[in-house]
Amino acid sequence: MTSSRQPYPWVVPDLFRWFGLLALSAAGLCVAWWCASGTTSVSHLVTWVNVSVVALVVAGLGNVTWLLQGRRAVAARQRDLTTLLLACAPSAAGPLPYPDDVRVSVPGTSRHHDPTCAAVAGKRVERMPVAAHERAGRQSCGLCSR
Ligand SMILES: [Zn+2]
Repeated sequence: MTSSRQPYPWVVPDLFRWFGLLALSAAGLCVAWWCASGTTSVSHLVTWVNVSVVALVVAGLGNVTWLLQGRRAVAARQRDLTTLLLACAPSAAGPLPYPDDVRVSVPGTSRHHDPTCAAVAGKRVERMPVAAHERAGRQSCGLCSR
């Protein structure tokens, strides 16, 4: 657990990588558009359409890596917070009051959680066995799944 994290899930190198990939993609699209304009040769056009598709893939990779880095950082913070909250819980509380097969869910949602999951902390939840959640079409939470 680190207490000196920056307030955002990304760091400056992530931003530069994202902008770099987006700039590379924009440059590729501009070059493809510029080179394809004014020509009627199909083989020439296909080449520049391929270049523009590659440029779009580069932009997609930039966006996906940006979002995955943010998601990874948020998940790490949730784990740290859960660890902190469990460490701060009074030790006299004893074991959790739920049997192992009982999971909770917020009514109207599609995920079921461990009762200690940060995603349901402070929310009104329904307690049911895993089988009942699965019959209701709910899937296991990605943060707290066993
Ligand atoms: Zn959960």
